[in-house]
Amino acid sequence: MNVLVVNCGSSSIKYSLFAMGEGGSADVLASGIVERIGEAGSRIRHEAAHATDVRDVTAPDHQTAFALVVEALTRGPAAAISELARIDAVGHRCVHGAERFAESALVDEEVIGAIEACVPLAPLHNPPNLIGIRAAMALMPDVPHVGVFDTAFHQTIRPHAFLYAIPYDLYTEHGIRRYGFHGTSHRYVSQVAAAMLDRPPAETNLITAHLGNGCSITAVRGGASVDTSLGMTPLEGLVMGTRSGDIDPAVIFHLMRTLGMNVDQVDDLLNRRSGLLGLSGVSNDMREVIRAAEAGSRRARLAIEIFCYRLKKYIGAYTAVLGRVDALVFTGGIGENSADIRGRTCAGLQRLGYVLDADRNAAAHGSRDVAAAESPIRILVIPTDEEAMIARDTARIATGGA
Ligand code: AMP
Repeated sequence: MNVLVVNCGSSSIKYSLFAMGEGGSADVLASGIVERIGEAGSRIRHEAAHATDVRDVTAPDHQTAFALVVEALTRGPAAAISELARIDAVGHRCVHGAERFAESALVDEEVIGAIEACVPLAPLHNPPNLIGIRAAMALMPDVPHVGVFDTAFHQTIRPHAFLYAIPYDLYTEHGIRRYGFHGTSHRYVSQVAAAMLDRPPAETNLITAHLGNGCSITAVRGGASVDTSLGMTPLEGLVMGTRSGDIDPAVIFHLMRTLGMNVDQVDDLLNRRSGLLGLSGVSNDMREVIRAAEAGSRRARLAIEIFCYRLKKYIGAYTAVLGRVDALVFTGGIGENSADIRGRTCAGLQRLGYVLDADRNAAAHGSRDVAAAESPIRILVIPTDEEAMIARDTARIATGGA
């Protein structure tokens, strides 16, 4: 069966078409992105195995953009299927499912209503996700559509780990609690890690570090998330590309009272002007920050140091949470590619059981174990594949699986 995976943002649609095979295999037939939807200069970049098609397009809205995706998939130089009817199911990446979705769900009007009800918790993300779902359902009304939620994997976290120490009514009446994100990535690498360790997931304890432009770390006990660093929104926890991560909330009062900032300015400061970018003054992109540090930038060096130090603190904390850890997993653009960041993060953690092998750590790509032979805890690098995970969930649910 063919599954189209869709990730709809406010001005973009990313998509991948998978051919699903026996045993959960998922082969990419084509993938692409429509960018600058509703703005000047819209473009589609579509790639299939044999060709790439990059074109300026007119995409005033998501509905039109979806029609362009279907056209690229079915016609032209990089077509992957002969007709729209060859798509058997559509999987939608959804950011916030709050407490309503502990698992992926077949989309119907009730599910759409529930995603709508989560909008106050994710005002920037859920509305475009919904627009994408409606646009895709209008074009493909006869196939199953499945919602896969970034928050779902973390619904196993218990109250002592997800509640903030603020008046309890704010949780019961307004849903203010930690939800966690990147769940599809943490779930994917957890499954691959258990397979690499040759252990049943239900008997595997892991710390999974997703280090991309957004960063989060999760404690996984027996295949289930028990704590994670992102909170009610994707701002808490680790240092990220442009986001501050953990901060004393009183800094916000100070910014407002003393510097006269309003709420929107503080929001912009912490979400878009902080993290690696704010610290280094160079970039939100770790590669550029590393380059600047190597060229002598003191602030870029400091940004890297703070990034790794915060990460190390969370690894220590989650080691305590789990009691026994089988493996630490690095994933995401930084986690998969930067031996330097992995090395700095693990330095000094030997007594806790994390012993890197310098040569293995520096070696090539793919899923691999970079711990020293004698390391009590394995250290794994696993390229994440959220799209394949979404495709698998979609195929399973579309064919009536639980
Ligand atoms: P992602 O959001 O998962 O695509 O990850 C993006 C982040 O990965 C950016 O900060 C990139 O700079 C970073 N990244 C990608 N390759 C490398 C690399 N070789 N070394 C350090 N950071 C990298």
